[in-house]
Amino acid sequence: TMKDNYDLVVIGGGPGGYEAAIRAGQLGMSVACIEKRVYKGEPALGGTCLNVGCIPSKALLDSSHRYEATKHDLAEHGISTGDVAIDIEQMIARKEGIVKQLTGGVAALLKGNGVDWLQGWGTLVDGKGTDKKVKFTALEDESETTITAKNVILAAGSVPIEIPVAKTDGDRIVDSTGALDFTEVPKRLGVIGAGVIGLELGSVWRRLGAEVVVYEALPSFLAAADKDISKEAGKMLKKQGLDIRVDTKVTNAEVKGDQVVVTSENKGESSEESFDKLIVCVGRRAYSEKLLGDDSGITLTERGLIDVNDQCKTNLDGVYAIGDLVRGPMLAHKAMEEGMMAVERIHGEKAQVNYDTIINVIYTHPEIAWVGLTEQEASDAGYEVKTGSFNLAANGRALAQSEAQGSIKVVADAKTDRLLGMHAISAGAGDIVHQGMIAMEFVSSIEDLQLMTFAHPTISEAVHEAALSADGRAIHAIQRKKRKK
Ligand code: FAD
Ligand code: NAD
Repeated sequence: TMKDNYDLVVIGGGPGGYEAAIRAGQLGMSVACIEKRVYKGEPALGGTCLNVGCIPSKALLDSSHRYEATKHDLAEHGISTGDVAIDIEQMIARKEGIVKQLTGGVAALLKGNGVDWLQGWGTLVDGKGTDKKVKFTALEDESETTITAKNVILAAGSVPIEIPVAKTDGDRIVDSTGALDFTEVPKRLGVIGAGVIGLELGSVWRRLGAEVVVYEALPSFLAAADKDISKEAGKMLKKQGLDIRVDTKVTNAEVKGDQVVVTSENKGESSEESFDKLIVCVGRRAYSEKLLGDDSGITLTERGLIDVNDQCKTNLDGVYAIGDLVRGPMLAHKAMEEGMMAVERIHGEKAQVNYDTIINVIYTHPEIAWVGLTEQEASDAGYEVKTGSFNLAANGRALAQSEAQGSIKVVADAKTDRLLGMHAISAGAGDIVHQGMIAMEFVSSIEDLQLMTFAHPTISEAVHEAALSADGRAIHAIQRKKRKK
């Protein structure tokens, strides 16, 4: 069922769009969510995140981790297993089951909240007046209908960036989507881009037995993370067998027979290597094709993002844009909170996303995660910085569960003692740094963290110790030099 007129039309049914649609339904608006995605032959909600992003990648990370841990980490516990084998078809089938359950769940949530899911393309034809015009092109028969809406949220997300030197062919040279569906473990796997996707999907196939080479054009590795953490991460991933080549540019990739021959250049020297598969993951770009008509009235930024303010409002009243289409990190949770904010703003409320506390998590093993400022960023922002850190090697729980690697670091303003950032490479780092996020939201000081009682034995105790260590007071580390009181 489709109405001619809605209070809100959301274009895009990813985490940003579907969450906005649900919230609007809760608030009693008449809402349509337009989504054109077809996944494995079926129309699907959930966007990149649920179909070919966050969730399927985490499913494969879990399977591959269990395989590797079963194979290599059980002997020290006195457990013998005999031969361990992996059935790739079953691993992929499990992933598909999870995707299907979640995307089906979103369809049920939209329905339950009275949201019309329109299966097809949405184009904002004219967003200028009070009645905005949206063209809907149905997937089923390509019929076109114009609907009007008092408000529109653009939530079309992003797609992988393509590079001319390594054009994807859907078989040997693939993007992240192709890398979630290999039918066998490549013997040798090349990866272009040592970003989040390169590390996560590179780890999946490495754990399953592939030899992995990762080409990174920049001289530094994980430039957005705190330097102490990225250094430690680089060492750990190398030890795990990810051959990360920084400062190395791929100049050509060509399919020859059943191999991809990659030519790369490091410090002026060119070399060639062959792979069974090559993943191109050099970032993503906003997906605005077919989203905006010629006369939509919407302003884009120089980089092709939709221009919005801190509340995700575009240059037009009643038109908002959220998620991967707009400035800021391309993360599902950021898209979701923006969707919620946009709808609440439309409803006349004062919602505001706190962009200073968006968490980053990279789901390697151990995980790498952070919130707030790195030491360098804090110093560049003019703070007199103090830091504290604690090594997991001295954490009882980490040792007891064979996870005694990595560290947790806090960054604070030395003058006011205020917590500015938390950085972790540890078991469960993605969950651990939520403590930093909550503490920062409540403007906590390092002293606050020092005075709280953390349960023993937990990985979280390392947060307590890192805070103590900022003043030279860590108990399970010797810090005579740093101590002031
Ligand atoms: P999307 O999820 O891209 O959804 C937009 C939807 O709009 C799409 O389904 C698209 O089909 C639809 N659409 C586009 N144009 C139109 C149109 N004109 N008409 C109708 N529909 C349209 N983020 C994390 O936070 N954590 C992770 O662990 C994580 N892992 C990832 C792993 C991979 C392999 C990838 C690729 C991404 C990952 N991300 C992760 C990023 C995350 O998926 C995105 O940030 C998130 O999906 C953005 O949400 P969105 O709603 O803005 O856009
Ligand atoms: P990315 O921006 O994280 O990393 C891309 C990397 O490729 C960078 O290090 C960049 O320097 C490098 N690069 C760019 N061009 C290159 C070239 N020509 N040759 C070699 N290296 C090159 O991008 P991504 O890994 O493709 O991921 C895309 C987005 O998806 C990310 O921005 C992230 O926000 C999101 N994502 C998030 C998660 C997560 O939160 N766990 C997981 C996967 C993806």
